[in-house]
Amino acid sequence: MDISGKKVIITGGGRGMGKRFALDLKNLGAKPYVVDVARENLDALMSEAQVPGDTLDVTSEKDVEAFFEKYVSENGSPDVLINNAGIIADGLFIRKKGEEVTKFPLENWQKVLNVNLTGVFLCGREAAYHMVKAGTRGVIINISSISRAGNLGQTNYSATKSAVDALTVTWAKELSRYGIRVGAIAPGYINTEMVAKIREDVLQKIIQNIPVGRLGEMEEISQAVQFIIRNDFFTGRIIEVDGGMRI
Ligand code: NDP
Repeated sequence: MDISGKKVIITGGGRGMGKRFALDLKNLGAKPYVVDVARENLDALMSEAQVPGDTLDVTSEKDVEAFFEKYVSENGSPDVLINNAGIIADGLFIRKKGEEVTKFPLENWQKVLNVNLTGVFLCGREAAYHMVKAGTRGVIINISSISRAGNLGQTNYSATKSAVDALTVTWAKELSRYGIRVGAIAPGYINTEMVAKIREDVLQKIIQNIPVGRLGEMEEISQAVQFIIRNDFFTGRIIEVDGGMRI
């Protein structure tokens, strides 16, 4: 698919990697539209780069359905959806400190599942529904993670990202008959605010385990997004862009 002129919806695109995807796709002639929870980031994106957007919590079925109905009535079906919104709430499954043994809170399990998995399901479903209705031979891109392999302290996050991979393969098989392709990207550690929250000494240890010896840059993940959009033989697979690191 040519990128130029294509309508692209990006979830969680008010900052971080989603914002980078929006800016790069706009430069390539696409029409990105960003949804996110924080109004101020959307306003900044509009004033900095004239990328339109709206607030949307991807975990709400009612709100996601209403957003897609409104978007489609104003713009027609999207050509591309990038399921990028994602959060972390890390912690050990069971932790023993002295005599005290604590459990990973159900609340942290549920909130990460809601955004990273239910959000991907809902937005993917609505995008596919409108693409099929309109006969659009579209593309859905899910953002997975290197943590899909199972990462210490990330029971919830790892579970969601490996599930996102499974959704990707399943949807590709089901939606191919409508000309819709579905791909995913599993980034390694990227130079973003999410990674900036990691303690400095822990981050340095992580970097020592990355064969290329540095964090990835957002632009390098953006290149993978563009590859998936362009390559009509690509579907049902997950691209690893991680500097050669294995968790
Ligand atoms: P950021 O935290 O910078 O951006 C994620 C965006 O999603 C934020 O703007 C956030 O809003 C938004 N968001 C959170 N919850 C919701 C929601 N319920 N509905 C809509 N939007 C929401 O993350 P990154 O750019 O670092 O990561 C983007 C994606 O890449 C995520 O899926 C992440 O898991 C994945 N990833 C990131 C890696 C990294 O190194 N950074 C590595 C591998 C994968 P706000 O924070 O304002 O609430």
